[in-house]
Amino acid sequence: MRNYLKHYINGEWVESTGNETEDVINPATEEVIGTISLGTKEDLDKAVQAARDAFPSFSQTSKEERIKLLEDIAAEYENRKEEIIETITEELGSPKSISENVHYMMGYNHFSQAAESLRDFSFIEDRGGHTVMKDSVGVSGLITPWNFPTNQISTKIASAFASGSPVIAKPAELTPFAAIILTEIFDKVGVPKGAFNLVNGSGSVIGDGISSHPDIDFVSFTGSGAVGQKIMENASERIANVALELGGKSPLVVLEDADVEKAARAAVSHIATNSGQVCSAATRVLVPSSMKDSFEEAIKKVLPEFPVGDPQGDNHIGPLVSQKQWDTVQSYIEKGQEEGATLLVGGTGKPDGLDKGYYAKPTVFTDVNNDMVIAQEEIFGPVTCVITYDTIEEAIQLSNDIKYGLAGYVFGEDEQTLAKVASSIRAGRVKINDAEADFAAPFGGYKQSGIGREWGDYGIEEYLEVKTVLGYPKL
Ligand code: NAD
Repeated sequence: MRNYLKHYINGEWVESTGNETEDVINPATEEVIGTISLGTKEDLDKAVQAARDAFPSFSQTSKEERIKLLEDIAAEYENRKEEIIETITEELGSPKSISENVHYMMGYNHFSQAAESLRDFSFIEDRGGHTVMKDSVGVSGLITPWNFPTNQISTKIASAFASGSPVIAKPAELTPFAAIILTEIFDKVGVPKGAFNLVNGSGSVIGDGISSHPDIDFVSFTGSGAVGQKIMENASERIANVALELGGKSPLVVLEDADVEKAARAAVSHIATNSGQVCSAATRVLVPSSMKDSFEEAIKKVLPEFPVGDPQGDNHIGPLVSQKQWDTVQSYIEKGQEEGATLLVGGTGKPDGLDKGYYAKPTVFTDVNNDMVIAQEEIFGPVTCVITYDTIEEAIQLSNDIKYGLAGYVFGEDEQTLAKVASSIRAGRVKINDAEADFAAPFGGYKQSGIGREWGDYGIEEYLEVKTVLGYPKL
């Protein structure tokens, strides 16, 4: 059992001032695997005070000191590799290969990339008539969701540390254990006292407390649009800056000259990886009308490459994170059928032989109209929609006919068309064919997918204030 009843404040593990606790459940077995304390406003106040006290010295550390700190964290993170993988598989239910190749890998890359980005980063720039300086934004509150227990928290902390900003982190209650390992790593490598604080707790107490705290200068949030809006409202009371990474309903545009099987494999992979609980997953697949039949055949052909089952085994798709998430996904599958979409594969209920655990069937709807609920709302499960189009202009129009703008994907060969579609999609990240991931590249959303950018040097900029000095002496 993983019982972590303490918070980490001012460089120490401390008792919670309250008595409330919450059990954490393994979604594959439905068994309790541990307990956390739910922090109080008093715990949060102590953490904020510790961060405020750390600010004067931490914000003045040199670039070289911060690069070393990030490198030490990355090295110690590597030392804890097996434990991180095992923990994420237990708390999130992601298959071991995904816990390693996606979750573990992303956390590692954020720390090592931040060190790398910092090397060429300039905090002071002589611009002829004036000098521009970049200062830490101040005490930063970080609130993260359950779907990537190391990715979001690591990118936020890495950028904050790179900028010299002390933090208070609140991970999601459903998956808090990976963040405990990160905290142990920071403790081991000697992150200065008060520069990192972890307060576990509910969204309504600690999350809300962070977004409305008068002594928190900046709030970085990843999660749902509804909570993001609340955070912005709370922060507006004191004109505090916010960064919001919210939901998505991203298009995958299959062009006429695309390899149909590759495109179908990519479409299934988007809803298979992390059981489709991915903000940037492509969940509206736009296919030329002329390719409809061959694309549907290709989907059926590639689907067995993504087996559903025990995350401890050799499967690609594990359970959803919770009973609540499973219920939500089921109701969307029912909704799609009511709306008249055709169920190509999948459907409601559990896959054969998987009665225990929150497993859902990978589900592909065809004959979907872009104004159906299943095409407009984020389902956050292994469900996708195939929508047909007749012209490139229509594919672009359908891609953008959505309130979100987090990501977009294009499959095809003709470079002119690929460039046209990629540059016309109104989203923060567009990927062409199988382009490789790049942790130096900014990540974030247009429209209701968010405000601000994370990862690499753009991520560091989020944690900085810009100061102009006129007449700065030539030292
Ligand atoms: P959520 O908004 O319910 O919770 C996210 C975090 O906010 C949790 O830590 C939660 O405790 C906290 N929270 C809840 N209520 C709060 C409140 N009133 N004030 C402050 N904090 C509060 O989201 P979730 O269900 O955990 O995550 C799924 C959502 O996250 C999806 O919409 C998904 O698209 C989005 N997401 C976005 C990105 C991105 O980078 N854009 C990445 C991953 C997930």
